[in-house]
Amino acid sequence: MTTTAAGNGVKLNFNTDWSYAPAPETAKVEIKPRYDLFIDGRFAAPSKGQYFDTTNPANEKKIAEIALAGAEDVDRAVKAARRAYDKTWSKMPGKERGKYIYRIARMLQERAREFAIIESTDGGKAIRESRDVDIPLAAAHFFYYAGWADKLEYAFPGKRPKPLGVAGQVIPWNFPLLMAAWKLAPALATGNTVILKPAETTPLTALKLAELIQDADLPPGVVNIVTGAGETGAAIVNHPDVDKIAFTGSTEVGKLIQKSLASSRKRYTLELGGKAANIIFEDAPIDQAVEGIINGIFFNQGHVCCAGSRLFIQESVADVVIRKLKDRMATLIVGDPLDKNTDIGAINSKMQLDKINEYLQLGQDEGAEMWCASCDVPTSGYFCRPTLFMNCSQSHRIVQEEIFGPVVAIQTFRTVAEAIEKANNTPYGLSGGVWTDKGSKIFKVTSKMRAGVIWANTYNKFDPTSPFGGYKESGMGREGGLHGLAPYLNLN
Ligand code: NAP
Ligand code: MG
Repeated sequence: MTTTAAGNGVKLNFNTDWSYAPAPETAKVEIKPRYDLFIDGRFAAPSKGQYFDTTNPANEKKIAEIALAGAEDVDRAVKAARRAYDKTWSKMPGKERGKYIYRIARMLQERAREFAIIESTDGGKAIRESRDVDIPLAAAHFFYYAGWADKLEYAFPGKRPKPLGVAGQVIPWNFPLLMAAWKLAPALATGNTVILKPAETTPLTALKLAELIQDADLPPGVVNIVTGAGETGAAIVNHPDVDKIAFTGSTEVGKLIQKSLASSRKRYTLELGGKAANIIFEDAPIDQAVEGIINGIFFNQGHVCCAGSRLFIQESVADVVIRKLKDRMATLIVGDPLDKNTDIGAINSKMQLDKINEYLQLGQDEGAEMWCASCDVPTSGYFCRPTLFMNCSQSHRIVQEEIFGPVVAIQTFRTVAEAIEKANNTPYGLSGGVWTDKGSKIFKVTSKMRAGVIWANTYNKFDPTSPFGGYKESGMGREGGLHGLAPYLNLN
């Protein structure tokens, strides 16, 4: 549409229907039609010969066939990991282990573009996120933990740190390569060997990492990557010769795993769901806070365990914050994950989109007021407009349950005490955010919020040196930083 504006006698013609020209990522990457299991340093067919498809959620097309690992395959992987642990990895000096991990980090950096494209193709996340967040952070985790490999005695003074043995690691689909790095890097640095299972809908970057690990000449069996569904994960968790389980995923599956490990000798850490409170006080820098809300929930399609999915705004500024938030949301671009202009890519799977849509209906049925940005969305593939729910109450299920999509439930508050009480009224306790220009208020509120990570005047910032993990039903144990080494060590 072309509009004409007259002011000071001057006529201006401008097109209000403008948009960015497409800027698709065009680099070609190699994706094989079929991927086998990575066991003992080699790719090998699954014993039952079964494969499943991984698809591109932005166009619903099949990308490749992926091996479905059964219990026999998991057993082969555990045996390979045990051999590698006994014969090589646990005997190798930390300095030498560190060299391999540094090599993986460097190679990942060199191949970052390829990994970013594959991550966005397989999982649906906007290329800007995979390129600027996921892949650089994954490499940073390998670099960081490589540095600890020969300094474990200094990390735990007065202790004699010893590896646990074979670690089984099961990860979700929202940050596929980054979660693999969070798990592999500390396990390898501490001298453990690994069986890793990526999520069923996003196996490709883990398999590419397997190729990279081959190129890095890591001794066979130190890292084994087995693909499959929930049963494959359960076979790893329940294998008798695994010493430690590291799981990231839903609270529902985390509870099942905790139950099945209750009577075993295995050590475990669980990183589970979240329903973070992002609190905006009236003295906050409003424009920055609005940007923080956008980054806190719409980043990665809301597929973020620590997403600021519950927004609390002090009553006196609620109208202005919501107005500015809607204006900003109207500019978000939903679409092709491989386009560099895209802000919000594809929802990871049909199942996840159906779940989000159910919550959108439920929120309206519960009496909350729904508002969606009016942006265009592609007609094929799994997409969701960024959405707000206003007039929510604490008892609404959209406030209590994890939606895991680009959906924010907004409530208001009057006093600091009310904000803290409302923020803590959840079974989860993974993360949160506080926006105010008073340092004392930041300390008061953050010390009373029951959450593992709380950002002040920013949101969703990660660094390999800082620990991450939850309270309550958001899990147990910490990953990242020094804290992330301890769960892989006997410290006597
Ligand atoms: P999920 O359904 O719990 O799956 C996580 C992983 O566990 C997948 O690899 C899955 O395999 C596997 N799995 C499923 N059932 C299993 C079983 N009975 N035993 C062992 N493994 C099993 O979670 P998701 O839907 O992939 O991920 C989203 C969830 O992860 C959200 O709740 C989010 O908050 C949480 N998350 C938490 C953190 C954190 O650090 N706290 C970080 C990221 C994500 P399949 O893929 O084949 O089903
Ligand atoms: Mg996929």
